[in-house]
Amino acid sequence: MSLNEASKKAVLVTGGAGYIGSHAVKVLCDSGFTVTVVDNLSAGHLAAVDVRARFEEMDLGDLAGLCDVMERGRFDAVMHFAGSIEVGLSMKEPDLFFRNNVVCGQNLLEAMRRAGCGNIVFSSTAAVYGSPKQVPIPETARLFPTNYYGVTKMLFEELLKSYEVFYGINYIALRYFNAAGADSSGNLGEAHDPETHLIPLVLRAAAGGFAADSPAKTAPLKIFGTDYDTPDGTCIRDYIHVTDLVKAHVLALDYLLRNGKSDVFNLANGKGFSVREVISAAEKVTGKKIPYKDAARREGDPPVLIADCSKAKKVLGWEPVHSSLEEIIASAHKWHSSQNR
Ligand code: UDP
Repeated sequence: MSLNEASKKAVLVTGGAGYIGSHAVKVLCDSGFTVTVVDNLSAGHLAAVDVRARFEEMDLGDLAGLCDVMERGRFDAVMHFAGSIEVGLSMKEPDLFFRNNVVCGQNLLEAMRRAGCGNIVFSSTAAVYGSPKQVPIPETARLFPTNYYGVTKMLFEELLKSYEVFYGINYIALRYFNAAGADSSGNLGEAHDPETHLIPLVLRAAAGGFAADSPAKTAPLKIFGTDYDTPDGTCIRDYIHVTDLVKAHVLALDYLLRNGKSDVFNLANGKGFSVREVISAAEKVTGKKIPYKDAARREGDPPVLIADCSKAKKVLGWEPVHSSLEEIIASAHKWHSSQNR
C-alpha cells in the first residue's frame, strides 16, 4: 500500500495506550493511517499515545459507547490489542480474563458489525498452543492452552471465525510469542503495573544491583521453575522485538485491506532462549550482575515455546530485523534507564 492509499484509511486501535498498542499506533501514524485509539487506561498510559492519533477513553464493556465511536469513525479496520495479558493472573482470576478478552471482544465485533466495519487485526498469542509436541510450532498445531489467558485468546479466535462466516468480518489473528524491547525513538517502552514479564523484571533487578538498600537485594528476580525438561531446566521462550512485531501488524492490515482474506500467523524470531540465557544476556548488555533466586514453577507455564514463523515471512513478506536477544534487551535497557533518571 502506498503512503497515499494508507492516508485515506481510518483505523480504530483498541488498547492503543498499552505497550504493543502504543508502538503500533506510532507506526500506523508514520505510515499515513488516520488513527483513533480507544483505551480505558486501566493498564495503558495516555502519554504513550501518539499525538497524531485521536483518543477516546472507553472500556470495551460499553457497547453503546463503542457503537457510537464506530459509527462516527467510519473505520476501514480495527486493530484489537486491549485485553488482560498476565499468564499467572489468569490462573487466579479467570473471570477477569473471560470478561476482558472474550465478552468485551464480542462487544467490539458487535459494534463493527452494526457499523459495517469488515476488517480486524487481532493480537493473539502463542499461549493458544499450550505445550505442543512439535517444535518449532506451526500455525496448524492443535490449540490446547495450559492457562486461561490462552483459553480466552483461543475463544476470541473462535468468535472471529464465527463473525466471518455469519457477518463477513475478515480477520487476521497474529499469534505473538514473547514481545519485548522498545522503540528506537526512546519515547515508548514496556511499563506494566504490576510488571510480570521477564525482560523488564530482569532489567529492574539489574538496576537494583547489589546496593545494600536495593529492593532487588530483598526481593530478587525469581526464576519460575528450574526443573523443566530443557537443557538448563528453565523455560524457553521465543523473544521478538516490538518494532518487528508492529511492522508485521501494518503488513497484515495491508494484506487484509487488499485481499479481504482471513488468516492466522505466528510472529516470532524462531529461536528459543531459556530464562537463564536471558539473565546472562542482560548481564552482558547492562554490565551488571543480576541477583536472582530459583523459585517454584508458575502455574500454567509451558516449558518451551518456539515458533515456526515461515508463513508470515512467505505470505506477508515480513522479516524480523531487530530481534537478536542482545538488541531486544539493549533497547529495553535504554528505555528503562531513561525512565529511572
Ligand atoms: N519468568 C520468570 N520470572 C519472572 C517472570 C517470568 O522466571 O519473574 C519466566 C516465565 O515463567 C516464563 C518466561 O520467564 O517462562 C517468560 O515469561 P513472561 O511472563 O515474560 O512471558 P510469557 O511467556 O508468560 O508470555
